[in-house]
Amino acid sequence: MSSRTRRMHRLGIRRSVFLSQLVMGSCVLALVVLLLVLNVGVFAQYTFFSGVVIIFALTACGAVVDWSRLPLWTIVIVPVLDIVAVTLMRIGQPSLAVAFFYILPVIWLASYFERWGALLGAGLSSVLYIAVTASETSSFGTTDVPRILVVPITLALVAVSTYRAAARNRAQRVILDRQSGLLETALERSKKGERLLDEVLDTLPFGVVRMNDSARVEFANRAYRSWVARQTAPVPGDIGYRVYAADARTVLPEHERPFVRAARGEEFGESVVWMGEPESEVRRAYAVAGQRVDVTDDSTGVVVVARDVTTELEAVKARDDLMASVTHELKNPLTSVAGFVELALEDPELSDVTRRQLEVVLKSSDRMLSLVTDLLEASRARAVGFTLSRAPMDLADIVRDAAEAARARSGDVELRLGNLDDAPMIADAFRLRQVVDNLVSNAMKYNRANGSVTVTIHATSDDVKLAVSDTGVGLTESEMTQLFTQYYRAPSTRNVGGTGLGLNISREIARQHGGDISVHSVPGEGSTFTVHLPRSGNEGEER
Ligand code: ADP
Repeated sequence: MSSRTRRMHRLGIRRSVFLSQLVMGSCVLALVVLLLVLNVGVFAQYTFFSGVVIIFALTACGAVVDWSRLPLWTIVIVPVLDIVAVTLMRIGQPSLAVAFFYILPVIWLASYFERWGALLGAGLSSVLYIAVTASETSSFGTTDVPRILVVPITLALVAVSTYRAAARNRAQRVILDRQSGLLETALERSKKGERLLDEVLDTLPFGVVRMNDSARVEFANRAYRSWVARQTAPVPGDIGYRVYAADARTVLPEHERPFVRAARGEEFGESVVWMGEPESEVRRAYAVAGQRVDVTDDSTGVVVVARDVTTELEAVKARDDLMASVTHELKNPLTSVAGFVELALEDPELSDVTRRQLEVVLKSSDRMLSLVTDLLEASRARAVGFTLSRAPMDLADIVRDAAEAARARSGDVELRLGNLDDAPMIADAFRLRQVVDNLVSNAMKYNRANGSVTVTIHATSDDVKLAVSDTGVGLTESEMTQLFTQYYRAPSTRNVGGTGLGLNISREIARQHGGDISVHSVPGEGSTFTVHLPRSGNEGEER
């Protein structure tokens, strides 16, 4: 028992003794006042007067004595003395029927000490009552028996019913105590769980904020609070700064700011936003996601999780800048190597050996040039994005040209042109040639010896589907999900040279045209890459 509970318990005993005795004292006081008012001269009667005095004295004791400090049985003294006092009053004034006052100490004893209290209370008061009444009766006949027994029988009934009610109360109290104990344990456990969750959230290196359904921040973990406290850089949710999209250039409209979306109760997947002006030193990038959580039946909110990815993105940018400058420097000398070798190959007087050697040099420099172009293209696309220059063109013509160029270096892989629907459209021919070249060269590179590549075009009035199928190594499910990620190269193909950039660039070009690229593959059997392009001069989608 805690010290607080113990104090409450002590206060409870003291109060209940006083209140029980107060009822007795008040009843006797009411009788006394009535007798005084009616001017009944009972106080000259010494026994009656002493009974009244004892009851008042006991009431005073009930108020003053700290019963909780005495052994529990000492409380019995008070009702027992009450019974004695009532007997004295009864002896003094038999005509007043004060025997009914026995009921109060009997109830008290039966409710406090249950079985033994009931026995003691009813027994003692009955014995005293019978003794007094019998002593007053000079000639005792059988007709007096029922008259004398009415009061003891009543007292016995009161004692039994009080005892039973008290026993029932106690049983209920035990159940209630047990239930409140269980509740207390459950509450303690849930508080512990809450504390543990808070501690876990505080250890996370990223910010976690919970907004309630009235768009107020209800909880922010330590990481988020420390971002707010540093005050030198913008934090997600800061309304004092402009928010830019992942490309770091496009300003996000107010309704698309992550915290505004969360305040609307919207869920959103992780996306990068930049806070602060492009040239600002304090500009920060955050990867922010919002997830709805149901707290109670009628209250929901959104948890916003934000990671500071500034350093990561700056490192990527530094890598891209380096790549761009290195590849840019490499491109010019390589172009001139390829150009001069081509010129040299035109010389009819070349010996066969020199011609073969020069052809190898040309092939290698072409390959290097295509790798360098991919790298340059990718870093340029990340820095400034693609810009398309659309014009009327036919995709079938592009495929035929690309196939002709590819056949020159197809080796033992056979390149077939299947069904080629005419596909006139308004698009960027240069960029789409890049896509076709990339898909065809991949299909040849990752093929088996003496395999084949088939290119088809199926056009409808709405869209055009260009498919490049090969009989090569194929791809697993997990490889297919990562295929379009920059620098990704499937483990099974790492023995063949490449940068892992071509598919990413190709998909970006397809998406800029409002289309996309999908892949279907069976490991060991081959793959089909399909480019879907809308027919109309689509402005492209932002993704
Ligand atoms: P690269 O070919 O320069 O590595 P890509 O972005 O064009 O870069 O291709 C990424 C990866 O996808 C390749 O490294 C290869 O593992 C896989 N891949 C692409 N095309 C095919 C294909 N037709 N068959 C099997 N794997 C392929």
